[in-house]
Amino acid sequence: MVKTRSRSGYRGRLAPSPTGLLHVGHARTFWIAAQRARENAGGLILRNEDLDPQRCRTEFVDAMFEDLHWLGIEWTEGPDRGGPYAPYSQSERRSQYLQAWRKLRDEGWIYPCACSRKDLALAATAPNDADDEAIYPGTCRACTNTKDFDAPVGVNWRFRVPDGEAITFDDGHVGSQRFIAGGDFGDFVVWRRDDVPAYQLAVVVDDAQMKITEVVRGADLLKSTARQILIFRALGFPIPVYYHGDLVRDERGQRMAKRHDAASLRHLRKTGLTPEQVLQNAEALVK
Ligand SMILES: [Zn+2]
Repeated sequence: MVKTRSRSGYRGRLAPSPTGLLHVGHARTFWIAAQRARENAGGLILRNEDLDPQRCRTEFVDAMFEDLHWLGIEWTEGPDRGGPYAPYSQSERRSQYLQAWRKLRDEGWIYPCACSRKDLALAATAPNDADDEAIYPGTCRACTNTKDFDAPVGVNWRFRVPDGEAITFDDGHVGSQRFIAGGDFGDFVVWRRDDVPAYQLAVVVDDAQMKITEVVRGADLLKSTARQILIFRALGFPIPVYYHGDLVRDERGQRMAKRHDAASLRHLRKTGLTPEQVLQNAEALVK
């Protein structure tokens, strides 16, 4: 059972990141997102998650618009269409993220972490899931010099998680979820040393400010949802409902990575497949 706030008030989103070509895994997730927005007679917001200047490229922004159009997915607001909550590209929303950083800093939710990559590699507990970040050992947790920082640059800023608290939510697709703060995940980064806001923070600020009521994305982000719920709470934002779709896995049971060029929508389209064939045969296409 999915709870949505109101049928006509539904606002979903597509949030591709232009770090490569979209592949069959994205196609499936975005198709579900589009379908749910349609079923709920709601809006669908396209957000360009181009936050990381090292990894994002403009040519992939153009490619993702084109590939989404080819799939038959249309959105109601986005970088190319505008809308009431513009800008819709994360690279243009830094002031919004900074405002959230300041609030978290002033209220003591986050602390500066000066640990190097090497410190962390030596001290951290390896995560259960190879894709996930290691649990931070808490070395800098007691840091209270947060007011010395006018700007976040130079250290990693971490969210102090409520140790032992169970973070729960009802997912619209995979049902009831429960993660233990400090056990399943530790103090996570909300702002990176190289002055890039972390994914967790940017997504929460955007989903709140763009008034997203339901987040549809892949099941690889279930644990991130628990982290993001903590940020929503700290910032006093209403928490959307979630729908985590099944991942398309390759023959080794691994989830799709962007480097599978043969599974890119661009390539599949060139081979003459239709969008329907791509969506219906996703598993077969990554074998
Ligand atoms: Zn540290």
